[in-house]
Amino acid sequence: MEYLPIFLDVKGRKVIVDGGETSAARRVERALDAGAEVHVFAEELGEEFRPFRDHPSLVHHTRPPAERDFVSAIVAYGTTEDPDRDARLYDLANDMRVLANVADNLPYCDFITPSIIDRSPIVIAISSGGNAPIIGRILKARIEAILPAAYGHLAAWIGTLRDRVMAVIDSPEGRRAFWESAIDGPVADQFLAGNLDGARDRFEDALEAARAGDSPANVGEVYLVGAGPGDPDLLTFRALHLMQRADVVLYDRLLGRGILNLVRRDAERIYVGKKAKDHTMAQEDISALMVRLAKEGKRVLRLKGGDPFIFGRGGEELETLADANIPFQIVPGITAASGCASYAGIPLTHRDHAQSCVFTTAHGRDGVIALDWEMLTKPQQTVAIYMGLGSLELLVDKFKEHGTHHDMPIAVIDKGTRQDQTVVTGTLLDIIEKVKQAELSGPSLVLIGTVVTLSDRLNWFAPGQADMHEMTIHAQTGL
Ligand code: SAH
Repeated sequence: MEYLPIFLDVKGRKVIVDGGETSAARRVERALDAGAEVHVFAEELGEEFRPFRDHPSLVHHTRPPAERDFVSAIVAYGTTEDPDRDARLYDLANDMRVLANVADNLPYCDFITPSIIDRSPIVIAISSGGNAPIIGRILKARIEAILPAAYGHLAAWIGTLRDRVMAVIDSPEGRRAFWESAIDGPVADQFLAGNLDGARDRFEDALEAARAGDSPANVGEVYLVGAGPGDPDLLTFRALHLMQRADVVLYDRLLGRGILNLVRRDAERIYVGKKAKDHTMAQEDISALMVRLAKEGKRVLRLKGGDPFIFGRGGEELETLADANIPFQIVPGITAASGCASYAGIPLTHRDHAQSCVFTTAHGRDGVIALDWEMLTKPQQTVAIYMGLGSLELLVDKFKEHGTHHDMPIAVIDKGTRQDQTVVTGTLLDIIEKVKQAELSGPSLVLIGTVVTLSDRLNWFAPGQADMHEMTIHAQTGL
């Protein structure tokens, strides 16, 4: 190891920053965050200083730093990119035994500044020993992506509970086991999901169990997670996080392999199917299965295409869980209409075309469409129809019947956002024939409205590099 990694206490200590531009601003900001008294030397301070220009611990000098400024300083940063001035800063600092760091100039560095992931009080610092800071920055992005934003708050909250656990559990091993199961279990889960009351209750239950000498009650949890329309890059951070925690995953047909591969490798996978006509497992059975698995203490991931609350029966599944008193959390996903529209270059609203957008489905409980055609055929709106491919002819007829001109643009987006996406655009007059020729296999989304005409100019997505894509995901997340 070339450098000694330490976290320096600079509270109330003097930190010198020479320069007034971007890199000076970053260093000033960080030093102020850590409680230092910061002296910045620059004729003028750039725009990026605005948020903390009036900070009580910031002192601005319009002259260059002089020897006397280094008295009782702890570190000094050079950021001016003026070689003479940087060299002078380094010499002064050395003479005065102050640790110096000149940006992008390794010979003038007594220490180097790491890339930081700040989840205070948890701070992760990454250094490449000055060899390749860009690698540090890339690693930072990866870690940022897999570490929930609330982790720092979790650490701070746990800090407030340590004494109570200490009073109940004598042995260090016992305390470690307690905290492991709390942090890798429902207490932290509830906290990270934003449910502080739930987290407190779980903590009290676990502590009570420890006091009584029991192992903590083993109740699992269900994560209802929207996985988006197919491109794994469209997952949310929280989705990815819960996918990595699950013991068992229930998934259906809409999910691509790319997404399933991001679920924890040793999680059990259960296919619960569901095609429009051929239900592999009845809805009640899926719900009952989730309840049973959760009661066994498992963390059950119910992974859904798109958003669980948009034509996803998420509500129905949760009602069963709520009735059975199983804890759950829901993660929204990008719904097909939104994903398909973006990846086909069709804005769902546009000031010249559509002031509203309707999401509807052509597939009712018993297969019959009973839609409000008057509402759907209003001008200046976009209609997104889920599960509409099989009824496309009927849809087109109904639109015409209710007065929509046969020139009305319409798009059918098949396997939207995926590497085998197909976009078929046309009008009410010719879409049936075009779709027939394209031999689409679904899932397909139908979009009706004049916004469809923008696709020619705004279509940016070039499908077809499936393998490359999946590799990128794994490289980005390290999963
Ligand atoms: N909960 C999902 C929708 C489930 S209903 C969501 O929010 O997206 C299933 C229908 O969604 C399909 O019949 C199709 O109309 C649409 N759909 C889902 N994924 C799609 C995709 N990748 N491309 C096109 N349509 C899709």
